[in-house]
Amino acid sequence: MRGGEGTAVVVGSGPNGLAAAITLAEAGLHVRVLEAADSPGGGLRSFRNERFGTLHDHCSAVHPLARISPFFRRLGLEREVRFVTPPRAWAQAMGAGAAEPSILSSLTGSAARAAASFAGVAAHAMLPPASPLALGTGALLGGAGLLSGWPIPVGGSQAIADALVRRAESLGVLIECGRRVDPADLSAELEAADLVLWDTDPATAHRAVSPAAPSSSRRYGPGAAKADFVTSAPIPWRDQRLRRAGTVHLGGTWGEVARAERDVNAGRLPAHPFSLVSQPSLFDPARAPEGLHTVWAYAHVPHGSSADSAEVITREIERFAPGFAATVLDVTTTTAADFPAYNPNCVGGDIASGATRGWQLLTSGTLRTRGPVSGSGPVSGRGHLFRTGLQRGLLAAPWALPREGWFLCSGATPPGPGVHGMSGHIAARLALRELGRRRG
Ligand SMILES: Cc1cc2nc3c(=O)[nH]c(=O)nc-3n(C[C@H](O)[C@H](O)[C@H](O)COP(=O)(O)OP(=O)(O)OC[C@H]3O[C@@H](n4cnc5c(N)ncnc54)[C@H](O)[C@@H]3O)c2cc1C
Repeated sequence: MRGGEGTAVVVGSGPNGLAAAITLAEAGLHVRVLEAADSPGGGLRSFRNERFGTLHDHCSAVHPLARISPFFRRLGLEREVRFVTPPRAWAQAMGAGAAEPSILSSLTGSAARAAASFAGVAAHAMLPPASPLALGTGALLGGAGLLSGWPIPVGGSQAIADALVRRAESLGVLIECGRRVDPADLSAELEAADLVLWDTDPATAHRAVSPAAPSSSRRYGPGAAKADFVTSAPIPWRDQRLRRAGTVHLGGTWGEVARAERDVNAGRLPAHPFSLVSQPSLFDPARAPEGLHTVWAYAHVPHGSSADSAEVITREIERFAPGFAATVLDVTTTTAADFPAYNPNCVGGDIASGATRGWQLLTSGTLRTRGPVSGSGPVSGRGHLFRTGLQRGLLAAPWALPREGWFLCSGATPPGPGVHGMSGHIAARLALRELGRRRG
């Protein structure tokens, strides 16, 4: 397909929206990206603390999946973004309270320590570590760590967003920020586009397909409570080996991690919420002026929780690094309840838009819509699944929305959350194939 042969609108400019836009533009389509926020990048945006001159990643900070993503490799991302790889990918802070802390920095310790270390990686899925999706997450992230480490981009995650934006714009993609798409009031350009790809929460895309659909029955997971600290010193870990790890998991034993995850999934704030901590300034000096440091951290809390992120995380770090609180000069926080205002995809603070709940990762595009569907007549979720199977290929089910030419492309579709761009790239490839078929 060559230029002038089609138009596409991508709603949302996270890594998947930008990957979709690049893939569509490479195929010759005229592509416009509509982004609600006032700058592009979604979960890749970084911000400056103007008072201290420090640079912080609002969402994603550590990027094992960006490095192994086939799409990013094909784009040559590592020619444009420099990654630093900390000596250890991750470490698990252990020990009851501050009494006898010890660490796991590899899988080579005792079985209990190895299990705890794996639990910390698996819990990235915001599920108890023994649940199937958490086991898969642990295997994927752990494997990526062993293969090529858990790298941190020099200049913050924004450097990845900037590289993707540059590539998209060089292909003629127009990116318009401050353009929140209201699913109940679609613009003419969106209605007329040959393809529309949604880098959004699935519920938003389904409301746009079928305004008459009852409110979404989608299930969401626990929330992230985020804190970005400016400190006067590196975290004073009692066990200095924790300093060599790019990411430190504050979770304890397998049992403790499992208990904390069960609690947040049941809507209870645990005494010790599982937390992830990174100090990018240790590995990328450009993050902070000399003498200052940055700490990126988030805790797993109940869905929609207003728990004070700074308080929760400071308490958890203090268990393993007494004296941390005294080094804090400033902190910027986002509670789980606040997250949707920053990024509507993080419903109730769920950074996976519900993708880690049940079968939703495989059915996000398909099974949510009931009621009349504009453009293609009434269709039920199951009816759409049947038609998707017959006409669009069953494998398209996670991405293909119940309207011709419309696809979901966010991290709510396979391969799932994380910065890799593959959900957007795959959705765009499916959309191009469908457009090609429509045109004979
Ligand atoms: C606190 C936190 C920490 C994380 N840490 C990591 C990490 O270390 N490593 C990692 O790999 N991943 C991490 N992630 C996950 C990662 O950020 C996401 O999985 C990834 O950004 C998903 O990309 P996406 O393109 O699907 O969506 P997003 O990046 O969420 O982008 C979606 C975009 O769509 C826009 N949008 C939504 N609705 C509309 C609308 N109606 N109209 C217009 N625009 C709209 C949003 O404003 C946003 O810009 C983290 C996420 C969070 C929240």
